Amino acid sequence: MRVPRPGLPSRVTIHEVGPRDGLQNESAVVATAVKAEFVARLAEAGLTTIETTSFVPANWVPQLADAEELLRLMQRRAGVRYPVLVPNARGLRRALDLGVTDIAIFGSATETFAQRNLNRSVAESLEMFAPVVAGAREHGLDVRGYLSMCFGDPWEGPVAIDQVVRVGQRLLELGCSQLSLGDTIGVGTAGHVRALLEAFVAAGVPVDRLAVHFHDTYGQALANTLAALELGVSTVDASAGGLGGCPYAKNATGNLATEDLVWFLDGLGIETGVDLESLVRTSLWMADQLGRPSPSGVVRALSSS
Ligand code: MG
Repeated sequence: MRVPRPGLPSRVTIHEVGPRDGLQNESAVVATAVKAEFVARLAEAGLTTIETTSFVPANWVPQLADAEELLRLMQRRAGVRYPVLVPNARGLRRALDLGVTDIAIFGSATETFAQRNLNRSVAESLEMFAPVVAGAREHGLDVRGYLSMCFGDPWEGPVAIDQVVRVGQRLLELGCSQLSLGDTIGVGTAGHVRALLEAFVAAGVPVDRLAVHFHDTYGQALANTLAALELGVSTVDASAGGLGGCPYAKNATGNLATEDLVWFLDGLGIETGVDLESLVRTSLWMADQLGRPSPSGVVRALSSS
């Protein structure tokens, strides 16, 4: 039953990260043709932003080593955006050569994760991103900025809100159109989400430039999503079937499953444009390809009914 709740956005854009963030963090390597079909099926289910792959070096992320082949193979649907993660200037050149129109960069709010993931300090990583974002913008590309470890860091513990706001503002100042705030290890809770978003707004960041990226590691992803919606956030990241997690953080599996998010938003009468049944069929098919069941409660419930 749909029971709207006052004060929430009437429509939410789901930023689907399954093919990139999801498959990147699955141990199985999926064939390129299967990925292309996955992307096509996600678009058919009504998703309009589908992060497709990444140009990180193949030895870092062997699961996405076929990025160029996938981009050549996959069919694109009108009105759907297919962003690609780009780590550096070389990645941007590859993106431009392949006609990519939307890219994303991946920063860290903490020094330890910046060192471990990017092999640089936070300041050095921002220096690396600056020409990438500027070059992309010159060519008319849209750039999304990811900020990871916004709530807690497995090595540093809780992350100070002012530190997250400072790094996030820098990513926006570089020219990112949107900032996705990531709870990479899933430790955030609703009050913390509210306080972080309020701090961004108090610092002068319009809420429509913020997106949220929650992990369901501690079962908090939808409660955190509700807290974000209450503050006016209307872009939410999710991964079909709950694919993927974070290889750097032990046990930090659990991107929020797109099906769980769609069920939740449908119940609130919030438009997403996504056909839940079609999406569930896609995730069941992908679970077969990966040889393991989807961790999503909604996928399980709807597939057994
Ligand atoms: Mg994630």
